[in-house]
Amino acid sequence: MLKKELNIFTFRDLLDHFPYRHIDKTKVSRIRDISYQTDFIQVAGKITLFQITGQGRARRLVASLKDDTGVIELTWFQGINWISKSLEIGKQYLVFGKPGFFMGKPQITHPEIEILTPEKLGGKSYLEPIYPTTEKLKAKGLNGRAIGKLLANLFLVLPSEEIQENLPESILKRWELAGKWAAYRDIHFPGNAQAQADAVRRLKFEEFFLAQIRLGMIKSNRHRYSKGIVFDKVGELFNDFYEKYLPFSLTGAQKRVIKEIRMDTARGRQMNRLLQGDVGSGKTIVALMTMLIAADNGYQSCLMAPTEILAQQHYEGISKLLAPLHVEVRLLTGSVKAAARRKMLEELKNGAVTILIGTHAVIEKDVQFKQLGLAIVDEQHRFGVAQRAQLWEKNEVPPHVLVMTATPIPRTLAMTAYGDLDYSVMDELPPGRTPIKTVHRYEHARPQVMDFIKSEILKGRQAYIIFPLIEESEKMNYENLMKGYENVKAYFPEPQTYISMVHGKMNAQQKEVNMQRFVANDTQIMVSTTVIEVGVNVPNATVMVIESAEKFGLSQLHQLRGRVGRGSEQSYCILLTGDQISKEARERLTVMCGTNDGFVIAEKDLALRGPGDIEGTRQSGLMNFKLANILEDRDLLVLAREVSTNLLDEDPNLEHPEHQSLRHFLMGQKGKTMWSKIS
Ligand code: ADP
Ligand code: MG
Repeated sequence: MLKKELNIFTFRDLLDHFPYRHIDKTKVSRIRDISYQTDFIQVAGKITLFQITGQGRARRLVASLKDDTGVIELTWFQGINWISKSLEIGKQYLVFGKPGFFMGKPQITHPEIEILTPEKLGGKSYLEPIYPTTEKLKAKGLNGRAIGKLLANLFLVLPSEEIQENLPESILKRWELAGKWAAYRDIHFPGNAQAQADAVRRLKFEEFFLAQIRLGMIKSNRHRYSKGIVFDKVGELFNDFYEKYLPFSLTGAQKRVIKEIRMDTARGRQMNRLLQGDVGSGKTIVALMTMLIAADNGYQSCLMAPTEILAQQHYEGISKLLAPLHVEVRLLTGSVKAAARRKMLEELKNGAVTILIGTHAVIEKDVQFKQLGLAIVDEQHRFGVAQRAQLWEKNEVPPHVLVMTATPIPRTLAMTAYGDLDYSVMDELPPGRTPIKTVHRYEHARPQVMDFIKSEILKGRQAYIIFPLIEESEKMNYENLMKGYENVKAYFPEPQTYISMVHGKMNAQQKEVNMQRFVANDTQIMVSTTVIEVGVNVPNATVMVIESAEKFGLSQLHQLRGRVGRGSEQSYCILLTGDQISKEARERLTVMCGTNDGFVIAEKDLALRGPGDIEGTRQSGLMNFKLANILEDRDLLVLAREVSTNLLDEDPNLEHPEHQSLRHFLMGQKGKTMWSKIS
């Protein structure tokens, strides 16, 4: 029963089943003070009346409990006979439960009740644990308190060696952390509130610390032991491109990151690098130049993008830039025809193709390279962990991996979710960009918004109008979009204005045709769902209208906004919402109107939503700490990070005698590190 309902198989599991709250049993409230806000309480008083009423399922036991300040009604639907036998009119009882109100009067359903004896109120500090349980277990009598009794018994018989210290003594001392045994005892049965807080702190620290040690060891092992392809020269292709064909000068951030990559790929260990750069910071050119380094060293590269549109766009942009250099570039997506695909696979295998660009089609089993030296994943938050893992298997010596993302992740999160990766940041936009102006407009201002679009189009600019994806229903999405499209059309008749539309129901070719018409400025308005969210680059577009903006999350809004502001003209982002929006939605819109900085937005996003929801981190399983919360316990995370880094610097293999218990503990938990081989 415990197994099935709560996943508790062993004593250990039971010990790890932590209470979600403690009740101060020394505190007795007055009935008069019960209000609608009252949570669990304990009251004491006399039973003045009790009776069994009703038949069958309506059968219940009702009692009145009175203290000096008022009366509360107690009701039981189960265990009626047994409880009624223990009640006696005029006797004093101690009652515990969560009060509710019925017709304005306070009552407790299924309270816990016991006879009040003087020593029950004897003033000893006594925090009773209450445990998570399930309805099924409750029906069998295993309520949140009964589990506590099981645990109390377990502690009576448990030898203390069963809970062995796994953190080094010096760390416990230095940071005033509770010992493991004491922490376990006190998280269940604390003598007072301070003991409980100390226990929680110790166990949270341990969670963070162990995670950081694991990540740190993976990283340092990869650095020291993994064989990596050596890109030891920067050759003709790179230099030629840099000197003759690069259409602009690189930003300082781009130069720095290219240098980091060059150093990292030259030293004979596998690069596994996360590149974070805000939308529009120019990651593509960094990818391209890294691929040229690979080519200069005789290796092939592949660049994987999350959508066909984006892969296509990368392909065209990169082919154009490389046209004078005679580098063979190919595009592989799901819509490449069988014959062409066969030929391409052949050319990859014999090395005729140097750069492969594509969607997840590039990671299919039969796509084999002669010598893959570099795999780049663009907009990584769109890919699952498993997909990235497949890139590893394309070569005997793993290729260097560069993962690029425009969804900035706050530092604390990055150090947790990607702590085993090397990390580059591009925190600088190319020069000459005018910051995007963002405004929030309500539905009733729609005509003015449309007029504004018209005036921009008259200046020769283009506009996006984006509709949300409604998760529940594809049909609704489609209808919603079509209605929107008809509306827009009514405002913008041909032949003054032409409109493109892209949505999920179209096949790749239809999407492509519509996209290309927009890119070529044959159409001035792009009506779309979020399929164009990532990556697309149309510098002439200066207006981004987001319909039902209240339905989008912050990072998505930021991504969408990043589609404009890519040229030198002033760009605008208009967040259209219904007239009634929630407080949370309003906060998001305020953040959007207040800043263009992706890293600031990421911090706000984390604060508003909590860590579990941050895109791309959910699958990693790393946010699943039992007690710790990377947001609320940020200080502790930073501390754990620091302490673990110092420890590994000093003793990277945990050979020091004082670190043996830690080492043993980690070895016993080996399975937990498997996820990390990815990326
Ligand atoms: P993202 O980082 O969002 O992928 P892109 O690589 O698509 O950004 O670059 C956005 C735009 O900025 C492109 O039009 C690109 O040509 C341009 N760009 C990139 N780097 C520079 C630079 N150093 N100077 C000027 N323009 C640049
Ligand atoms: Mg990009």
